[in-house]
Parts: sequence; structure tokens; C-alpha cells
Amino acid sequence: MTSILSRRDLVLSATTAMAAFGLDGSLAIVEAKQRQRTPDPKQGYLRFKVGDAEVTALYDGIWEKVHTPAYFGNATVTETKQALAAAGLPTAYVTIPITAFAVKLNNKTILCDAGGGDQVQAFNPDSVFVSGKMITNMQAAGIEPKEVETILVSHFHPDHIFGLLGKQDSAPVFPTAEIILSAAEYKFWTDPSLTSRLPPGRRPLANRIQNVVAKRKNVLPVEGEDEVVPGVRFVKTPGHTPGHTSIHVSSGKEQLMISGDTAYVPALCAAHPGWHGVFDQDGPLAETSRRKLLDRVVAEKMLVCGSHFPWPGLGRFAKDGNGYALEVQRA
Ligand SMILES: [Zn+2]
Repeated sequence: MTSILSRRDLVLSATTAMAAFGLDGSLAIVEAKQRQRTPDPKQGYLRFKVGDAEVTALYDGIWEKVHTPAYFGNATVTETKQALAAAGLPTAYVTIPITAFAVKLNNKTILCDAGGGDQVQAFNPDSVFVSGKMITNMQAAGIEPKEVETILVSHFHPDHIFGLLGKQDSAPVFPTAEIILSAAEYKFWTDPSLTSRLPPGRRPLANRIQNVVAKRKNVLPVEGEDEVVPGVRFVKTPGHTPGHTSIHVSSGKEQLMISGDTAYVPALCAAHPGWHGVFDQDGPLAETSRRKLLDRVVAEKMLVCGSHFPWPGLGRFAKDGNGYALEVQRA
């Protein structure tokens, strides 16, 4: 056996113990058995134009999620694998990349979600959850974090907001930026009575939001579908969480919909919009929002970004039977 092979075997058999926040925000010591199997993109950012807006997709990481029967309440693991195969994706696990988006418009730099900040870990050791690469990719794209004036948050799940918080001390990663989100999302997570109503595993997420995020002076909850920055508007897409929000960018005749988790893994949720995921807090409402948003982007032939679309996280949808098919725009 060569020494190279020995080292490789060591790496493959190594287990990495780490304290981390689980997807539901709870703290856990996790023994990660698997290594990431999907290669990172060679270039972790992709810039494109929407009218005068300069949009940059920023790769943050990937979740290779082991199949579990609970993932969708009304679809089996076999059906899930069939849907992945139909989209040309690996079937051994669910491929869930994490992408954040920066928008430069009217001399303002806006960040839409912030990834997982290397603080989210899959509980199941057969899953892989890697995050926290957004800042490096942002700087590689020529955007300095201190330039970011506004952060638009689609919802308060760990893979979208932990990148706003320092890993050790929860210190603000973007101390001067204003954080804007829907009032419904803010109200839900900051309700003092929420913690006791949540299942125990979700309570640390609510505590962290209430003790850290909500205490910031620069957090602005907004009602309705306001134009939160000139040219950028909130679009209500509740269901995944109570105040889940998509972000509509328009410049000249061009439009972009940054859809957050409205159709998180399109091979599953857009192809089968009626599948209700365990991470959709209100499955039927999430389905209604999903169909409404996808009908709109199909009718208006709009470019769409998604936090968990295949890298680089953008494409266009077409109606496909009872569902929607994503044509991914390749990097
Ligand atoms: Zn997500």
C-alpha cells in the first residue's frame, strides 16, 4: 500500500466531531462520517446583468442530504429518487447547494440571504452539510463585505441567516448593513411565547434569533410588498415559514425573481409542487405560494434565482404537466 493511499484511507475513514447548530437550529455534537461528494464550482461566483443591475451568485456550500421517509409527507423515498433521476441528479442523496445573491443597483450593494456561516451541520452522520464559503467567494468577485449596505432576508432558517453571525461570538458579520425582512417573519420568530410552543429541537434557533438578531438596532421589519430598495420589491411567499419572502428586482424592461426557498429543490418541489416537505412549516400554504410564484415567472418569462437551485442557482421555468421544469442557466 502506498503512503498516498494510506493517507486517503485515513481521510475517508476519519470522523469529524464538531459542535454545530442543526438545521432546526439546535446545538449538537455531530460525528460527520461522510465527505462532500459534489465538487465545488471552480469559480464560486457568477456575475450577470438584469438591466442595469449587476447580480452575483455566491456559492456558500452544499447539503448532501440522506434520504428519509419524513422529507415529504406525501411522497415516498422511491418517488423522490425517481424525481431526482428525471432531473439528471444523483439519487444516492438529495443535492442541495446553498447560494446567496448580491445585487448592485443604483450604486447600492444589496445582499440577499447570507448562507449558513459554517455553523449548520446535518444531524444524520450520513448527510454532509458544508457552508460558510460565501464571504470568500464574495471577495473573489470583488465585493467587500463592508460595501454591503442592505441585507434582505427571505426567512429565518439557519442556512439563510447564520452567515450574518460570527461563528464564535455571534458578532455581526456586516455590522453597518441594515437587515430588512418581512414583518410576519420577524413577528413569528420574536414572539416571546414562541419558544415554549416549539418542539425542543427548534428552540435554540428561536433563542438565537431573539437574543442576537432581534436585538440589533439595524433590523427593519416591513409590512406588505414594499419596494425595500429602489428597484427591489418584496413578494410574499408564505408557507415555508410564516413570513417567507421572495425578492423581485427590476431594471428597465428586465426582471429577476430571487425565490429563496419557495421551490427549494426544483427537481422535487417545482416538478411536484404538491409535495409537502418537512421543512415547509405550512405545507398547503407553501404549495399555494409556490404555484402562484411559478405561474407568474412562467407567464412573464422571468429569470429566477433560488437558494438551493443547482449551481449557479438560476434559470427559467416552463410549465410541465402538473408541475414546472427548471432550465438551469449554466455557469
Ligand atoms: Zn434553505
